[in-house]
Amino acid sequence: MEFKENFSLKPFNTFGIDVKARYYNSFESQSELEENLQTKNHGQSLLILGGGSNILFTGDVNGLVLKNDIRGIDIITEDEHYVYVKAGAGENWHVFVQYCLQHNLAGVENLSLIPGNVGASPMQNIGAYGVEIKDVFYDLEAYHIKEEKCFTFSLNDCEFGYRDSIFKKRFKDQFVILSVTYCLRKQPIFHTQYGAIEQELVQMGVNKLSIQAISQAVINIRTSKLPDPAVIGNAGSFFKNPSISNEQFSTLKESFPNVVAYPNNDGTFKIAAGWLIEQCGWKGVRRGDAGCHPKQALVLVNYGNATGKKIYALSQEILESVQEKFGIMLEREVNIF
Ligand code: FAD
Ligand code: NAP
Repeated sequence: MEFKENFSLKPFNTFGIDVKARYYNSFESQSELEENLQTKNHGQSLLILGGGSNILFTGDVNGLVLKNDIRGIDIITEDEHYVYVKAGAGENWHVFVQYCLQHNLAGVENLSLIPGNVGASPMQNIGAYGVEIKDVFYDLEAYHIKEEKCFTFSLNDCEFGYRDSIFKKRFKDQFVILSVTYCLRKQPIFHTQYGAIEQELVQMGVNKLSIQAISQAVINIRTSKLPDPAVIGNAGSFFKNPSISNEQFSTLKESFPNVVAYPNNDGTFKIAAGWLIEQCGWKGVRRGDAGCHPKQALVLVNYGNATGKKIYALSQEILESVQEKFGIMLEREVNIF
């Protein structure tokens, strides 16, 4: 078992932050994971890495970084309405989406082109354009690091919430997700009402709706709006959209009639964090190589050589100014290390 020492993580995080891992290795199976942990995990801090697209490194990792490279996508069973597909945690998420599109399996088309890997999809219950992973989730297998055994988590066990799950809260840093099984529909239910999807479908000249057309529409919108991490380092939305009570919302709307907000099912209102940040004048602002993206204020970017500390400091300034202007405390969505 060969560990790389003082290994640069720059190619392994989409922010492109140049930090080092004291020890680094990858694993392609549960047994390789166990072997890694037995050899090197004595007292070391441990970070499990997927595609590195939801992480901000603020310094070197003085411990062990293990990249999950477990592969494989297999149909395991089907019934009248659903096909159950199991994917290794190390599979690229969009490759999995493409597999579903090729097999005419519906449910993940709105989640096209989200960076990262299958194993992280339940971590924050990834979501986009009105669909979340919980809508297609069946179960997952995860390895308990301390107990050294595997557990199966059902939909209820995962306690999915808005960009949230049990793995970000009570079970944080306790499990390694090995595989996820999704249940995909044989007959699609189309979700096109969200954002610019309908407009894009018209522009594409689509007159017969399909999951492939929706996926292409989502890809077109995303590539036109979001910075490509291969060109400008970023980790997508840096903050979550905050939710506030009905009363707070009424007060806010009196002072800011143009506030961008959406009602939640529980009577609260979700406020577009990008709008709050833009109103505070941050869109396009740069602090050296750390910046707030000129097209999408919710995305913080690394123009080249920003350190994680600089990006974190910028996020803190943004957070404080939103709190001061609107009385709303933003929460970071990106995982800080
Ligand atoms: P990483 O960044 O590698 O890891 C994230 C966290 O999960 C870390 O804490 C890590 O330790 C943990 N982790 C990863 N894999 C495992 C595992 N197998 N077992 C245990 N823990 C693990 N997110 C959305 O929800 N919706 C979007 O639309 C979206 N758009 C994005 C657009 C861009 C341009 C970018 C850069 C990011 C976007 N994201 C979006 C955020 C990100 O892509 C997702 O959160 C993605 O699921 C992260 O996957 P990853 O493999 O890169 O995770
Ligand atoms: P957008 O369409 O400009 O919308 C801005 C915000 O308003 C979004 O954050 C979205 O919330 C919300 N919204 C828009 N239409 C809505 C509706 N009909 N009902 C409820 N809420 C609505 O957003 P965007 O930045 O281009 O992103 C498009 C989608 O991709 C969003 O779902 C977004 O979450 C997702 N995305 C996520 C990341 C990430 O890193 N997490 C990065 C890029 C894009 P929601 O965010 O709750 O959907």
